Amino acid sequence: MSRSYVIDAIPGDGIGVDVTDVAMQCVDAVAGIYGFGVQWRVRDWNSDLYRKAGRMMPVDGIDQLSSGDGIYLGAVGTPDVPDDVTLWGLLIPIRREFDQYINLRPMRLLPGVVGAMPGIGDLDIVVVRENVEGEYSQIGGRFGAGTDGEFAVQESVFTRRGIARAARYAATAATERGGRLVSATKSNGIIHTMPFWDEVVAETVKEFPGVVVEKVLIDALAARLVMKPTSIRTIVASNLFGDILSDLVAGVAGSIGIAPSANLNPERRHPSMFEPVHGSAPDIAGKGIANPVGALWAAAMMLDHLGEAEAARSLTSAFEGTLADGTATPDLKGTATTAEFAAAVLSRLS
Ligand code: ATP
Ligand code: MG
Repeated sequence: MSRSYVIDAIPGDGIGVDVTDVAMQCVDAVAGIYGFGVQWRVRDWNSDLYRKAGRMMPVDGIDQLSSGDGIYLGAVGTPDVPDDVTLWGLLIPIRREFDQYINLRPMRLLPGVVGAMPGIGDLDIVVVRENVEGEYSQIGGRFGAGTDGEFAVQESVFTRRGIARAARYAATAATERGGRLVSATKSNGIIHTMPFWDEVVAETVKEFPGVVVEKVLIDALAARLVMKPTSIRTIVASNLFGDILSDLVAGVAGSIGIAPSANLNPERRHPSMFEPVHGSAPDIAGKGIANPVGALWAAAMMLDHLGEAEAARSLTSAFEGTLADGTATPDLKGTATTAEFAAAVLSRLS
């Protein structure tokens, strides 16, 4: 076999396991059709491992991943394990150690899917989220525990380099998407970091003559994404704002279960990581009704990143065709189980 890729799969917890299983089967199917191989290294790095070993991944976990061509993640987290363990013990170290500084979150109104409101016909939005700095920092703390004067401090850290490279990636995306770039900000309330963000975004976008940047306050942007979602095509946002906006856009487009995410090291010096936007969804874990579309779309983004564009398109049309046929999981008001949806996608691929 000529082309072959080593992919580390981390199914994780809850519905992460179900959707990863579907994604691996479908990737194997398209790989067979397009003549390349995928060698999965399945990792049991999840909350069970944390309960047994006190760690979400082995001490040399990052080293183990560094020899692969890509990372595919389901979702991590369970109600009895604190969020900071799952995030700071697995997800954030992977993003930061591999300098996956772009989190790319595309969303379209998919065929057969009814959005949250009528009239969002041609919704087609890409959120480019800065993925390694900003509001998600470990700097800060709680002080004066138990006293009336108790307080907490959380610092954000933005760097010129970090903002500029996110803006550059987003401006490149905007070039291919009509030339308008919306930059999410809150420089009227957050008076140090956000004016800096605005300034560096504006300067960086000047390198792109075909791109016009419009800065929009995050509150107004949230309303506009609900009221007039088709007026926006490309967004660049900080770590926190991008996180929130991409869930919002996914909700507008029908379900958080359809949203994909690519954590990219655009220079390809390190593996990139692909995952559905949703979490482990403890409320539906084990019920077999998780929507695998976000996971499949993320898998298609991975194939595209690996250079298998045709296979990516084929996988995308298989899940889109399945939805167009009226097969959908309960979050999209359908009656299909995860397994039934997967079977329909696989039969389109064969
Ligand atoms: P996490 O902390 O891991 O992000 P969470 O509690 O935020 O988890 P999510 O998993 O992000 O929960 O999902 C929120 C809700 O959306 C879930 O409780 C579930 O009902 C629904 N949901 C999320 N993903 C899916 C999916 N793939 N299919 C169906 N429903 C989903
Ligand atoms: Mg969540």
